[in-house]
Amino acid sequence: MSGGPGPASAIAAAVRSGARSAREVVDEHLRVIDQREPEIHAFNLVLAEKARARADEIDRRVAAGDDPGPLAGVPIALKDNLATRGIATTCSSRILEGWQPPYDATVVERLAEAGAIVVGKTNLDEFAMGSSTENSAFGPTRNPHDTSRVPGGSSGGSAAAVAAGFAPLALGSDTGGSIRQPAALCGVVGVKPTYGLVSRYGLVAFASSLDQIGPFAATVADAALLLEVIAGHDPRDATSIPRPVEQLAARLGDGVEGLRVGVVSDLLTEGISRDVVARTRAAADALSAAGAKVEEVSVPAVTLGLSAYYLIAPAEASSNLARFDGVRYGLRVDAPTTNEMMVATRTAGFGDEVKRRIMLGTYALSAGYYDAFYGKAQRVRTLILRDFAAAYERFDVLLSPTSPTTAFALGDKTADPLTMYLNDVCTIPSNLAGHPAMSVPFGAGDDGLPVGVQVMAPALGEVAMLRTGAVLEAALAGQGGAR
Ligand code: GLN
Repeated sequence: MSGGPGPASAIAAAVRSGARSAREVVDEHLRVIDQREPEIHAFNLVLAEKARARADEIDRRVAAGDDPGPLAGVPIALKDNLATRGIATTCSSRILEGWQPPYDATVVERLAEAGAIVVGKTNLDEFAMGSSTENSAFGPTRNPHDTSRVPGGSSGGSAAAVAAGFAPLALGSDTGGSIRQPAALCGVVGVKPTYGLVSRYGLVAFASSLDQIGPFAATVADAALLLEVIAGHDPRDATSIPRPVEQLAARLGDGVEGLRVGVVSDLLTEGISRDVVARTRAAADALSAAGAKVEEVSVPAVTLGLSAYYLIAPAEASSNLARFDGVRYGLRVDAPTTNEMMVATRTAGFGDEVKRRIMLGTYALSAGYYDAFYGKAQRVRTLILRDFAAAYERFDVLLSPTSPTTAFALGDKTADPLTMYLNDVCTIPSNLAGHPAMSVPFGAGDDGLPVGVQVMAPALGEVAMLRTGAVLEAALAGQGGAR
């Protein structure tokens, strides 16, 4: 899989030197999309004409002696909750029907400045709430490795787009695992950066204290390249970290000699399938063979993450989604009074999972319950930070599975929200802490489907995290991609 026409870094180098035209690169990817998109449904919208026009513009710049930038001519797919000026941005929800943002997200601006070419907007669970992309109002995305299985979610369209070779790069958003879990299930690399490293300006808000935008790629080097382009301070996001961007791609070859790696024992038990645990242990062995000092460590509070997250995230969502009122954006269902119009619009416009979250969140925040639910969840968040801090005194990075299982069948977990929520048990703690974490493919499970291993690091620990990911990737390649 990931059988696209080549890595982003190679495409950019060839386009910048004039060895390949951006137009040819785009046409090649559009052909792959034509072939497989009907069965995958990774996209809500393919921007074929816009992409071709943009490629021609890049080729003209190269011909004129200009350098279009580090992602020159590289096709990229954008999760459809990132604002694109004049281009429908749906969040895979009926409620945004017809809305075209009047501005670009900061990451979209930075991609343009770097010479990248947006080929389409990708499918997601409505407003990024879900773990399978089955909560999309426009129908599910399918896993390119096995179309009877889900691609994971909520950024399932972006993960599937990279896995199917529709684009070498994609952007997603990760609130509780929505980049890493679909990356794991689709066999690609997915990175959730430190909270504040990438501007959230123009990302439609789900849970603002947790949301981060991050890259999908077929390789760790490409993910690092993309992260360098989108990272960095933005005055339009008050939570953006005012600090120059570190060199990431250049540090990938540094290896893990002497690096202290903790394998999180608490995430090798509860509900994690045997084959996924085996692959995680194999990854730990590979790091040890590469010179890292590997030990098991308990980070007890991580097991409380799921419960805290499913109070904090819905609480923030209930407030963020109040703006979709039939007046300011998209859909309006008319009714005699303003109140009735809002009720009718929200009833018709939101899907079941979004309504469930709004009700959960409103309840958790209501007077009399605030301390017992939201307040308590915030205290758990502090415990998680404390336990991580203790672990990071002894370790540079932590290792765990990304997702408890490989890709499950469509329809398997839609009947019971709780079984769906359990997918996020390994990924949520890093969001609650604001720490970076990534998923790296590390072979296959008993069913032959991809398994991802999660590398976590303390805040702004991207370099050590990506170095570890690069060593895992090289080790797996050395084993011939074995199980
Ligand atoms: N699956 C989690 C949820 O449903 C995480 C979603 C996300 O990271 N956007 O909330």
